[in-house]
Amino acid sequence: MADDNAVIVEVGPRDGLQYEGGFFPTPDKIELINRLSASGLRRIEVTSFVHPKVIPALRDAVEVLEGIRKEPGVVYSALVPNLKGCRRALETPVDEIALFVSASEAHNQKNVGMSSQESLAGFKEIAKLALAEGRSLRGYVVTAFGCPYEGAIPEQRVLALARAYADMGVAEVSLGDTTGMANPVMVRQRMARLAGELEGLRLAAHFHNSRGLGLANAYAAHEAGVRIFDSSVGGLGGCPTAVGAMGNVASEDLVNMLEEMGVDTGVDFAKLMKATELIEQVLSTRAASYTSRQGRPAWQAGPGRKEPAACSGD
Ligand code: ZN
Repeated sequence: MADDNAVIVEVGPRDGLQYEGGFFPTPDKIELINRLSASGLRRIEVTSFVHPKVIPALRDAVEVLEGIRKEPGVVYSALVPNLKGCRRALETPVDEIALFVSASEAHNQKNVGMSSQESLAGFKEIAKLALAEGRSLRGYVVTAFGCPYEGAIPEQRVLALARAYADMGVAEVSLGDTTGMANPVMVRQRMARLAGELEGLRLAAHFHNSRGLGLANAYAAHEAGVRIFDSSVGGLGGCPTAVGAMGNVASEDLVNMLEEMGVDTGVDFAKLMKATELIEQVLSTRAASYTSRQGRPAWQAGPGRKEPAACSGD
């Protein structure tokens, strides 16, 4: 029995599918989320209420939220950009509203066409409304480590945004390495310092695998005491010609790493693979996760062991 545990926030249906090429059909989205719910995951970000013209891939947000089978004990969240989006979300059975702001002014301008302060000002009303409707709140700080337009992001800026979230009743802040610029040393230091400054606020780690450092960064965050990790089944996300190239850390790999480290995630790997299989069918490609191909390591010989692919042995 593990004496350490972690919570995985599955963001594939939102963060992953919003960038996948083409339209992932609504019934398949619903089936994907149902399979994720059945795997033991306790948190799933299912969609986004960003304007359908901006993200056509998620234009079926309402149908998805109304179509899924809600598993008791699972928290289903949706990303919301503004008050209008929040009102639409609150008409659905969504449990949690997720907000997002960039720690980089340039990125926030490009992303939503306003300053970070203007974003925060708009969130106050949303937060009030969502809390009044009995929904919980999660806040993303995106480009929390580095930004392709601004370069280094001062820690103080991340801290100020997290505090602003806390002031409006947000219980959890997820720090995003949106374009995969962070490294494990930076992550460990930043997460440890922020956790020290932000007592009472839950910190989550959200790593993209753009440069292959997603898992290393997740490990570093765990070392710094973080116990909430965002990931995408199948490493979803990125450009259609190279599935997963810019995606989140893959849930299968994260679950495997944590479980191998003795950290209980509550996720049944075989059941999680049912979600991976669906993605591979629908997108007609192989998932961008290592462990989905290799299976979990077999520490005991016997039936059910997945034989490794033939290799030269050195
Ligand atoms: Zn992301």
